[in-house]
Amino acid sequence: MAVFANGVIFDGVDTSQPDCWRLDAYVARGGYQALRRILDSKMTQEDVIAEVKNSGLRGRGGAGFPTGLKWSFMPRSFPGDKYVVCNTDEGEPGTFKDRDIIRYNPHSLIEGMIIAGYAMGTKAGYNYIHGEIFEDYVLFEEALEEARKAGFLGQNILGSGFNFDLFAHHGYGAYICGEETALLESLEGKKGQPRFKPPFPASFGLYGKPTTINNTESFASVPFIIRDGAQTFLEKGKPNNGGTKLFSVSGHVNRPGNYEIALGTPFSELLEMAGGMRDGKKLKAVIPGGSSAPVLPADIMMQCTMDYDSIAKAGSMLGSGAVIVMNEDVCMVKALERLAYFYHEESCGQCTPCREGTGWLYKVIHRIVNGQGRKGDLELLDSVGNNMAGRTICALADAAVFPVRSFTKHFREEFEYAIEHGKTLVDHKWC
Ligand code: SF4
Repeated sequence: MAVFANGVIFDGVDTSQPDCWRLDAYVARGGYQALRRILDSKMTQEDVIAEVKNSGLRGRGGAGFPTGLKWSFMPRSFPGDKYVVCNTDEGEPGTFKDRDIIRYNPHSLIEGMIIAGYAMGTKAGYNYIHGEIFEDYVLFEEALEEARKAGFLGQNILGSGFNFDLFAHHGYGAYICGEETALLESLEGKKGQPRFKPPFPASFGLYGKPTTINNTESFASVPFIIRDGAQTFLEKGKPNNGGTKLFSVSGHVNRPGNYEIALGTPFSELLEMAGGMRDGKKLKAVIPGGSSAPVLPADIMMQCTMDYDSIAKAGSMLGSGAVIVMNEDVCMVKALERLAYFYHEESCGQCTPCREGTGWLYKVIHRIVNGQGRKGDLELLDSVGNNMAGRTICALADAAVFPVRSFTKHFREEFEYAIEHGKTLVDHKWC
């Protein structure tokens, strides 16, 4: 899928050029100027963190936590090893933006991580890349080698006395390794299962050392912030929602792909950029932030702007920015069954409410789709969900419950019809 860019990460990146990812192309676009500026002007760690804080950058992986604030939690005077880690374990249905960052503009991420390493006083960083991303993993390794040879990584970077190296790590494709503590376990060579928290990674992270983990897009936004200034970045978005953001638009649109747009852009404009609805069909529903974000019906979604606050006010989450567009032909019972199966498959099994609950959610929805729904099944789904959410080690259980609650709330008549008539209201043969 192509990248349709108009933002800070993909500005000037011609994705039709096979070498657009290379170091030369990145430098020609102004790449590594931010790092040079920091090292030449001897910006302090506090200066860099303050700039990132002032930019209003919020974590692009899903939680939307302020990046600068997260960086300030790192104990900078800690005497031993500490790490920065990038989460490129992009495995949520609908999400494909981080893959395109390492495919088309990997040096923006590398430069962002070097700056993060400088700001937090770390000497090493790791980029954990999802196991189903093969070619781009190899390409990222090549980009790292380019950066090393050019003196941007390694000892005495650009003659400044600052040492930092960065390594890529290929996962095995488990969705749960996108949870930051499961990612750390996997990076250490163990089974990728979430840890109990606290302690949080800022104090007990990789190999038990202080660690800051950010999403790929968050790191890749940092060079622009340092080079062009926090205020410029902030003004690209709207208050409390600074900057631009990548949205992965998939589903029933004419031009699915990644769109980098200002936070606060109306959803209707994003839909238009994506070529509008395919085959002239009507919009029925949208999942605005990856499969764990609650689904919103068309009328609510068309009133939203694409930013954290507007989507939250509408009852969903901006999440990772994966926008799944569904037309009038979609059977919402079948669509929910697909999502429920995903979470059931991806539960790591540590917690009983999640391991058993995701299975129950899937089984009940599966029987409703197949004409065997029972009176009381919607109440049963509710009860199972209530016994899962907030009762587990990590948020996967909540992520499995959100779609169930929102689908059965906004499209209840489809579920009731299927239970009552033994068949779905909308033919799901093609869904
Ligand atoms: Fe594993 Fe689910 Fe528990 Fe998360 S909530 S730790 S995925 S069992």
